[in-house]
Amino acid sequence: MENRKKENNPYEIAKNSLENAIRKLGLSDEVYERLKDCDRVLEANVPVRMDDGTLRIFKGYRAQHNNVLGPYKGGVRFHQDADLDEAKALAIWMTIKCAVVNVPFGGGKGAVTCDPLKMSPQEIERLSRQYMRSMAPVLDSRVDIPAPDINTNAQVMAWMGDEYCSIKGCDDWGVITGKPLALGGSAGRETATGQGIMLAAREAAKALGFSLKGATLAVQGYGNVGSSAARFLAREGCKLIAVCDIFGGVSDEDGLDAEELFQYCRQTGSVKGYPKAKGSITTEELYALDCDLIVPAAMENQITAEVARGIRARLIVEGANGPTTPQGDEVLKEKKVFVVPDILANSGGVATSYFEWVQNNYGYYWTAGEVSERLELKMVEAFQHIYDYRRSFGEEITMREAAFMYAIQRLAEAMKLRGWVR
Ligand code: GLU
Repeated sequence: MENRKKENNPYEIAKNSLENAIRKLGLSDEVYERLKDCDRVLEANVPVRMDDGTLRIFKGYRAQHNNVLGPYKGGVRFHQDADLDEAKALAIWMTIKCAVVNVPFGGGKGAVTCDPLKMSPQEIERLSRQYMRSMAPVLDSRVDIPAPDINTNAQVMAWMGDEYCSIKGCDDWGVITGKPLALGGSAGRETATGQGIMLAAREAAKALGFSLKGATLAVQGYGNVGSSAARFLAREGCKLIAVCDIFGGVSDEDGLDAEELFQYCRQTGSVKGYPKAKGSITTEELYALDCDLIVPAAMENQITAEVARGIRARLIVEGANGPTTPQGDEVLKEKKVFVVPDILANSGGVATSYFEWVQNNYGYYWTAGEVSERLELKMVEAFQHIYDYRRSFGEEITMREAAFMYAIQRLAEAMKLRGWVR
């Protein structure tokens, strides 16, 4: 059986997608040689004094993939399974994502291998500051700009940003995005990925000829991305019939209250045991539900071929990065399930990070309404570009292939103009 975690090395998957797209576009090998590996990676020991007095050395990474379109950009995750190959893959996906959603950034990604759920807030603060001490030499608001990812949030960005500014001896908060509002964060950034997912789902549903009003929805993962997507989709009239996270899952065919479930989850750390749900559900069962729309918003490699064979939904909008394995993708393609790929669907996060960076550089701040309006324009435009691009290939390619090809065309053009490739 296909392993959901280790056998599907995300870096190999990302390289394969690049290679296929470059081949289909008939571009030179030089383009592949430039893109198949990261421009630079930094691996560091991140020593942290734990609350019990012991010293622990965590492994920290920053992968800088390609900056032909602008500074490297991408989140930092704290996770026990994080490693360098995963960071490299996620950095490649960021390069593609930024080109798809048309923001002037390249791709980067950071990680620390640790289990933050077993650490105190003080330990997480020391870890965040120490990570920044290791990475500061390769970061700058014009070089590489981190942001939140799995298990990191605005508070973590505040600690990292504070550490950065004291190391550099100047205030340069544009070096990090996803900050709290009080430190130059952008209105709407925290829920932007979820809002973008809703917008991508709305456009996809329109293209497929159905409305989100009354559409049934299942969500895997109820962290920042899953919960904000569910809340935005519920506001559009979707009926949330199931949610799973790592601890368990809840279901209700009459619809769960996305907002109340979010509050419950915030207090308890999981959706498990939400008292108003009619039933409980496993992740396997969730993926096999008879529903209109599934949003995978957990980790990589969740939709394997086996999971894909059981899927009955007509639309999948990827909130997580890399949730579908290549084998899973093949099955979904055969079954004609419409997939809005991560590099398009979850690009609302980095698009709003771009808005935050613009506001920081400009020193002038927009209202929540202005940010939301701009995000809508960006997402609708990106969806339309990829959708039309795919149609120009007679729909023989998937939305993921179309997004890769579209992005690589832009990257190759810029690399040629700068004399990086022929
Ligand atoms: N971590 C998010 C992502 O994977 C956001 C990155 C950013 O805002 O830079 O897209």
